[in-house]
Amino acid sequence: GRRVVVVGAGMAGVQTAVALRDQGHTGPVVLIGAEPHQPYDRPPLSKALLLGTAEGSAFEVDFEALDVELRLGVEVSGLRPADRELDTEAGPVPYDVLVIATGAVPVTLPGSEGVPGVHLLRTLDDAERLRPVLADQHDVVVVGAGWIGAEFATAARGAGCAVTVVEAADRPLAGALPAEAAEPMAEWYEESGAQLLTGARVDRVEPGQVVLEDGRVLPAGAVVVGIGARPATGWLAGSGVDLGPDGAVLADDHLRTSVPDVYAVGDCASFPSARYGTRLLVHHWDNALQGPRTVAAAVAGAQARPYDPVPYFWSEQFGRFVQYAGHHASADTTVHRGDPADAGWAVAWLRDGALVALLAVGRPRDLAQGRRLIESGEPLDPALVADASVPLKSA
Ligand code: FAD
Repeated sequence: GRRVVVVGAGMAGVQTAVALRDQGHTGPVVLIGAEPHQPYDRPPLSKALLLGTAEGSAFEVDFEALDVELRLGVEVSGLRPADRELDTEAGPVPYDVLVIATGAVPVTLPGSEGVPGVHLLRTLDDAERLRPVLADQHDVVVVGAGWIGAEFATAARGAGCAVTVVEAADRPLAGALPAEAAEPMAEWYEESGAQLLTGARVDRVEPGQVVLEDGRVLPAGAVVVGIGARPATGWLAGSGVDLGPDGAVLADDHLRTSVPDVYAVGDCASFPSARYGTRLLVHHWDNALQGPRTVAAAVAGAQARPYDPVPYFWSEQFGRFVQYAGHHASADTTVHRGDPADAGWAVAWLRDGALVALLAVGRPRDLAQGRRLIESGEPLDPALVADASVPLKSA
């Protein structure tokens, strides 16, 4: 069988190796990862692992039993498709089929690189460095009120740190959710005892403090930067693999790239969604679980449907379980379901009478039913959607 090399041993890379064997691929599978650690899952890094309620998050995958050759601590620096070879510091690696699964790297705050006490939160090493920050109850400044910022703030408040969150927009999650859905979340910060400064911009980070553009000075034993992530695709420069303006590998609807026998999956790749009529770059766990099945089917030569998932993710923040499914950009109607002052509420987005996206806070059943309704596209009665006492599937 053909020799498949997977670059990146995160969720998408590991799941690709597993899915290849599931699909009956019998040829060699080589999984190369830059990090020295046994492949692990990222969501616990900002949750149980930080809180100290879990020690590790290594995937429970028996690579030996699957006959997957793991090469850890090896960074791939280039791709030469004409030779079907990858370049690494340990020498060239040949492939017949290549799967790019290099994920994403966090965006850094300009000028803060190398300043002592400034942290990112993407890797196991990052999380290990942050654990003593929490244990020592440092004053913490979090830059960015996105998913990572909210989860880190939750953990830091739980550990008894004084927490200030600096957010340039006028509300949390401004990049991910429209105002009507995200505004109620601002109160969660205050309620937890964290201070949320919206419309605030960092001018500079100095040892022990953060200076805002308006002159305010925030004491900071540690600074955690959570202002987004971008695809880890710099190593593909000059390879002929087409990238989009966002840096993502431009994959097609079977996750093939512009180069023959080269695929891309997970946080590093965007794909065209017929469902939403636009190209999607999804930075969530479920996409790194589902995408590999499409790649493996294509590699195994099986008839596969186009990759067109209903994106899904969850977040655990300030004692709440927040879930989102779909893509709201194309919606024509917003329906509020329940009161954001209560423990459970949801926001539904419809287009032409059918559900296209759902945000659920503390309402996992709504999310499960909503996800199926988004998939089926059946028409709903907005008045019933607005009635939180009626199951969503009966609306
Ligand atoms: P990654 O997990 O980034 O893995 C890519 C791997 O490739 C990395 O190990 C990297 O070292 C390696 N690599 C990169 N470049 C090279 C190279 N040149 N050579 C060799 N190896 C390379 N999603 C949710 O839906 N819900 C959550 O609650 C949630 N929580 C999260 C919490 C944290 C702290 C983080 C960081 C992410 C969270 N996510 C969550 C997002 C989710 O973890 C990602 O979508 C998922 O990890 C993507 O998997 P991936 O394999 O595509 O990329």
